[in-house]
Amino acid sequence: MSEVLAPWQQRVYDKAAAALDAGRLPHGLLFAGPQRLGKRAVAEKLAMRALCMGHAPGEEACGRCRSCQLYSSRNQMDPVETRPDGTLAHPDGHPAHPDARFISYAVNDKTHKMRSEIVIEQIRTMSGKLALTPQYGENQVAIIEPADAINHAACNALLKTLEEPQPGRFLWLVSAQPARLPATIRSRVQVLEFRLPPRDEARAWLVAQGHKAAQADEALAIARGHPGLAHEWLEQGALALRAEVVTDLDRLTRDDSGAAGIAQRWAGDEDVALRLRFAADIAAERARVADGHDIRLLAAWFDQANRTRELLRTTVRAELAILDLLLAWPRPRS
Ligand SMILES: [Zn+2]
Repeated sequence: MSEVLAPWQQRVYDKAAAALDAGRLPHGLLFAGPQRLGKRAVAEKLAMRALCMGHAPGEEACGRCRSCQLYSSRNQMDPVETRPDGTLAHPDGHPAHPDARFISYAVNDKTHKMRSEIVIEQIRTMSGKLALTPQYGENQVAIIEPADAINHAACNALLKTLEEPQPGRFLWLVSAQPARLPATIRSRVQVLEFRLPPRDEARAWLVAQGHKAAQADEALAIARGHPGLAHEWLEQGALALRAEVVTDLDRLTRDDSGAAGIAQRWAGDEDVALRLRFAADIAAERARVADGHDIRLLAAWFDQANRTRELLRTTVRAELAILDLLLAWPRPRS
């Protein structure tokens, strides 16, 4: 993996890699922090280093040994495609590295649908494999993501594995919601925390990704300093989408006769959740500069916007829910 890490990722990686090379890396790690900060990229790079058969301490994975080649042979950019037993399949069916396990949402054998939680069979299979002798180097790595999706029974099985550490076996949990993990799990892993980087660093990184400085600043402002989110939004052209939401809300402030048309447009494409997220953000922003009565109205609207966004997952009547929301947009008292 030649992927260059962002500076905030590199800091976490360097610390963990030094511990790995010194033989001090604990059995259980929790990569914790907001989504899109590159937790998985760091875990992957560290895994390749742990499994490499040809590098000296202090060096990166060699990229040439059989382990490195096999590890790199699957396409990192493809969505994680997981078999029911928890192994990761290359899109063409090429087997993953025998000493690397990736556990995520698996397909339910009976319903053929993707499960919404990580289940005990996956953890048992993983633990069984971890108990075997590594096939290439001296280590085995299992990465579970999102670790907060492990259900109760699976957590108990995972706990057993965490309680019986074996040398050269690494069990890494990746989670954007670490507080959802049981305290019993959290107390048995060392946390590698990912935090939002300083603004200058985030900005420089965005510019290095090819974004214009002015756009980088604007995107960082609306992403509240989150470089990964700002990058994603810039790639998607989401700044224009947000500007459109501002225009729509301003129009509603003057006159709500266009609400039905706006609701139809908002509900009409795959950007609907992002529109509602931006709309909630805009309400929160305006509440910060409003006075008493308006603060309460905007705060209530903020809550309603978030509830409407949640509803999108369950309702087919998105347009009606959005229309309700738009009609509730605070207008000046006359
Ligand atoms: Zn290697």
